[in-house]
Amino acid sequence: MNNEYVTMWKELGLNLEAHDALLSVLGNAYKDIFLTQKDRPEGMGYFDFVMSEVHGLRIKELLDEKAQGRKIIGSYCVFVPEEIALAANATLVGLCSGADFVIEEVERYLPRNTCSLIKSAFGFKLGKVCPYLESADMVVGENTCDGKKKAYESLGSLVDNLYVMDLPQMKSGQGRDLLRNEYDRFKTAVEVLTDVAITPKSLKNAIKTVNAKRSALHRLSILRKADPVPISGLDALLANQVFFYDNPARFTESVNKICDELEKRIREKQGIAPERTPRILLSGCPMAVPNWKLPWIVETSGAVIVGEESCVGERGVRNLTRDSGTTVDELMDAITDRYFKVDCAIFTPNEDRLEHIVDMAKTYKADGVIHYGLQFCQPYIMESIPVEKALEDKGILCLRIETDYGMEDAGQVKTRVEAFIEQIKDGLRQNYC
Ligand code: SF4
Ligand code: SF4
Repeated sequence: MNNEYVTMWKELGLNLEAHDALLSVLGNAYKDIFLTQKDRPEGMGYFDFVMSEVHGLRIKELLDEKAQGRKIIGSYCVFVPEEIALAANATLVGLCSGADFVIEEVERYLPRNTCSLIKSAFGFKLGKVCPYLESADMVVGENTCDGKKKAYESLGSLVDNLYVMDLPQMKSGQGRDLLRNEYDRFKTAVEVLTDVAITPKSLKNAIKTVNAKRSALHRLSILRKADPVPISGLDALLANQVFFYDNPARFTESVNKICDELEKRIREKQGIAPERTPRILLSGCPMAVPNWKLPWIVETSGAVIVGEESCVGERGVRNLTRDSGTTVDELMDAITDRYFKVDCAIFTPNEDRLEHIVDMAKTYKADGVIHYGLQFCQPYIMESIPVEKALEDKGILCLRIETDYGMEDAGQVKTRVEAFIEQIKDGLRQNYC
């Protein structure tokens, strides 16, 4: 273990023993799930490196930035605009919430029937194992689902720099006004934190930086339309996950480099699985690092994942922000318009999401959709029923999976996924015979 990192983690107040245990589990899972894949693009080496240094070098970089006066803002949701943070000389990072930790302690703060994602956020804080959370000068919560909304009341007693953003629940004129007002309030809070006034120039530049990041990921997504598919769903998901941690410019460059390689692979008909391998679109709750359970099950059961309708995926990156404004007000309007299109299941009604899933299934030539709902996540589990119906109406197969971060149900989930893939294969055989 690098001694410099150990000192850094100690100074951040991490529980070194628990943190070591977490890194060891994470490292082993990464080896078993990612490094055993065949024919990975060479460019994935960058992401392997990022993951091997996710609590090391990246944290050191953030602390170096802090030493130079930059502020770090942590967030749990794609509704928190990175553009505003960047424009005020702050760095926005996603906070770990993809693994169970100190569950018994967590359940002293939250009811047992809370989704894994929320429990995980508490577990990482209570277990003192997240260097991102401990480095953050501001932690942003948001009033999205009821679970998060109420959980932030308790998180406020554990985190002394929590800022809570209100969010609309309906895509109405009033909803948009609420979002705009909340973004103005957030902008002021960030300016106070950093002591930097946002200018049209800084906001425009920030918009361009984030647009470039999103465009690179979108380019990667589009390349997954090819058959054979040039990159696994696991690797594409990893790139989407790293989006939330990495230095923006370096991330954009690395993703574009992989895309160049994938384009070559497509020209040469080189894929990670043979042509006509069943193609799956994943849809539903976000998958934060190191939540790789379902994609790993799908891709070790004879199918490939060709897209993610998720906040860690296309829902999070598909829309860009207009950068044509010349005043802060105009640019803030553009930011509001962009984020107001995010079709999270907290919105009611949420027809856009149903259309988007059907659209994605067609665009990525998916043979079936697996809807992933975290246990106790009311918005997504409730919405999975109309999603299934919308897909069935278009003749697209759908499997609804409800699970958590534990591995106890992995066998059962695998059995259902395998049966679904068999059903797809039967259909494909009939179509091709
Ligand atoms: S699913 Fe909704 S609450 Fe969760 S990150 Fe996405 S937008 Fe935020
Ligand atoms: S997974 Fe569902 S319940 Fe959990 S935080 Fe996200 S929207 Fe809320």
